[in-house]
Amino acid sequence: MNSPHSSAPEAAKLLELIQKYSGPKIAIMEVCGTHTMAIYQHGIRSLLPEQLQLISGPGCPVCVTPVGFDEAIRLVREGVILTTYGDALRVPGTHTTLERVRAEGGEITPVYAVTDALKVARDNPEREVVFLGLGFETTSPTAAHAILTAKKRGLTNFSVLSAHKALMPAMQALLADPLMEIGGFLCPGHASMVIGSDAYLDIARNHKIPCAVAGFQPEQVLLGMLYILRQIERGEAKVENAYPGVVTPEGNRAAMALLKKVFVLADSRWRGLGELPGSGYMLAPEFEAFDTRKKLLDGQELVGEEPAGCKCAEVLRGRMGAQECPLFAKVCTPEAPVGACMVSSEGACGAHYRYRGIE
Ligand code: SF4
Repeated sequence: MNSPHSSAPEAAKLLELIQKYSGPKIAIMEVCGTHTMAIYQHGIRSLLPEQLQLISGPGCPVCVTPVGFDEAIRLVREGVILTTYGDALRVPGTHTTLERVRAEGGEITPVYAVTDALKVARDNPEREVVFLGLGFETTSPTAAHAILTAKKRGLTNFSVLSAHKALMPAMQALLADPLMEIGGFLCPGHASMVIGSDAYLDIARNHKIPCAVAGFQPEQVLLGMLYILRQIERGEAKVENAYPGVVTPEGNRAAMALLKKVFVLADSRWRGLGELPGSGYMLAPEFEAFDTRKKLLDGQELVGEEPAGCKCAEVLRGRMGAQECPLFAKVCTPEAPVGACMVSSEGACGAHYRYRGIE
């Protein structure tokens, strides 16, 4: 359990306390892909007591985006310059990937941040430049800021193909699923920095599910788990914050205001969860000049098809472990991913494949 910034003694102490858990059998869902990766990377799963099961949730942005890639592929073929995060390039669309389209001569620029996409637009004033935006409340405020900047600077060749998603509707959808038995939520540190830990109060109070916000070092993940287990032992359900230096109860109000100004929440499709009401950040009408769907796709949203045999939908709902998919490690590997969950190191299949030796 080594990491340059982690505290091994602290992690060992927390693990010892977790191993003493004496409550009922419980499944904790780690909502966030970065938690999934940290848990695999540090071999945490195999060190937990038998009564504690961890299930991976829908918090990996490239994994839950069912559309966006087909739309982006079409746009590149029509001649736009596409900018997006590197992970998105290898995610299978219905017939091909952005990576293959790029190899065929399509103009795709991987970026680290949406500000790089603005620079591409500035450097290519004669071309349409589209940013394929992915992610939850962690990245969507930066996309909102870029749209405001483009508007202010009159960058009319720039637009955003938004696949940005709101976290809470997905968690609520999981709770509404009668087949899901979630005993606790390990809530993401990054998105909670923006939405605030109070965002989970409804889940704790009304659904009686213990929640703990956690950071990504092993000892932070373990502390979050311990908070949840202690609540179970005491018969409580509340929201606890194991990442207090970073996450506040109210979150980042400025970032939330930015989201509210530029986006509206609309129904949106999720891989595995289907269409969820009010779960997608779409550009507000006053910014439609920067909305790729309005500008270049006739307002249409293309709906892609899942690859044959891929069980990402089941994995993302927490109903199936990655290794239970018949294609796992046989036909589907990080080098030749069949589904989105194998592409990103934060996807449950990708994380399980990369770190299964540790398990
Ligand atoms: Fe899909 Fe591959 Fe995961 Fe199976 S192992 S669910 S095919 S991504």
